[in-house]
Amino acid sequence: MAEKFAFSLKRTDGRARTGVISTPRGEIRTPAFMPVGTAATVKAMMPESVAETGADILLGNTYHLMLRPTAERIAALGGLHRFMNWSKPILTDSGGFQVMSLAGLRKLTEEGVTFKSHIDGSRHKLTPERSMEIQRLLGSDIVMCFDECPALPADDAEVARAMRLSMRWAERSKEAFGDRPGHALFGIQQGGVTEELRAESAEALQAIGFDGYAVGGLAVGEGQEAMFGVLDYAPGQLPSDKPRYLMGVGKPDDIVGAVKRGIDMMDCVLPSRSGRTGQAFTRHGVVNIKNARHADDPRPLDEACRCPACRNYSRAYLHHVFRAGEMISGMLLTWHNLTYFQDIMQGMRDAISEGRFDAWEREFHAGRAEGDIAPL
Ligand SMILES: [Zn+2]
Repeated sequence: MAEKFAFSLKRTDGRARTGVISTPRGEIRTPAFMPVGTAATVKAMMPESVAETGADILLGNTYHLMLRPTAERIAALGGLHRFMNWSKPILTDSGGFQVMSLAGLRKLTEEGVTFKSHIDGSRHKLTPERSMEIQRLLGSDIVMCFDECPALPADDAEVARAMRLSMRWAERSKEAFGDRPGHALFGIQQGGVTEELRAESAEALQAIGFDGYAVGGLAVGEGQEAMFGVLDYAPGQLPSDKPRYLMGVGKPDDIVGAVKRGIDMMDCVLPSRSGRTGQAFTRHGVVNIKNARHADDPRPLDEACRCPACRNYSRAYLHHVFRAGEMISGMLLTWHNLTYFQDIMQGMRDAISEGRFDAWEREFHAGRAEGDIAPL
């Protein structure tokens, strides 16, 4: 295995790229989808099963883990990989985004953010330095800079102010991260939906120098058209020899559209969260397993899917256990959704490698446009 963190770009097709990120904990095939393990678990899944779906890397949430069970406790117990029994790479976010979306009574200053825990109301402080310390205690392989993602809608002046503060925090994050061979630090581009601000942010980050670059501040309610509008230029503002990570995306067609525009990594709670609410993503669009039409249907959710929910169970069974509130419902549908997302990634990696991404994309959209199989 690699001693160092490295990215090697294997092939491009249009703006879509495929490659490999090497880390001491294993390789990450790109484009990569990262399931989210918020509280040191991908909800309803055993880590072995997550690996079986094809995931090479997980995302962990700094905000949640610092509050409970705390980074210090996880470090004393051998780090996050050992704690949650996941030996492959882990990327942790900086905590910044969730402080803004979940915590109470926030106070933002040049130094950082003080806030009240959404769990017990206790007071905490996050700064670039503290965020780097927490992510080091967790043992994260890919560490994210501490940044401020302004709530949208925001005017240009507010977006510019938040972006420039994030760039000063990026510099402090780099300084605090220090020299840690085998671990990577990613910078986060901000600037909302304004090309000039995105360019200024990209330039500031490259002057500092990072192992990878994230496109931040998207997937916060701006809609797919606005997001793709930014992705038409933002990846090109970032270095081509480093991984590009789009944070918090997304639905299957968001993911495909982002890869088409030059994104290498993504994460989202959607496949696991939807699985627990009875929603399945398939090659033929979304299936709501709670609908009465499935009650007598002996067919699998998706006959072409390799996951246990599709191989070993009928739609009627999945419908029944969802209606009965059985835990296996969330387990099976999450397994299916994560498998489907990873199969999309594998499909794109193969298509880019073989120079047929456009054809693959047409087939992807045609399958989804067909809709679910007809009821019996
Ligand atoms: Zn399946």
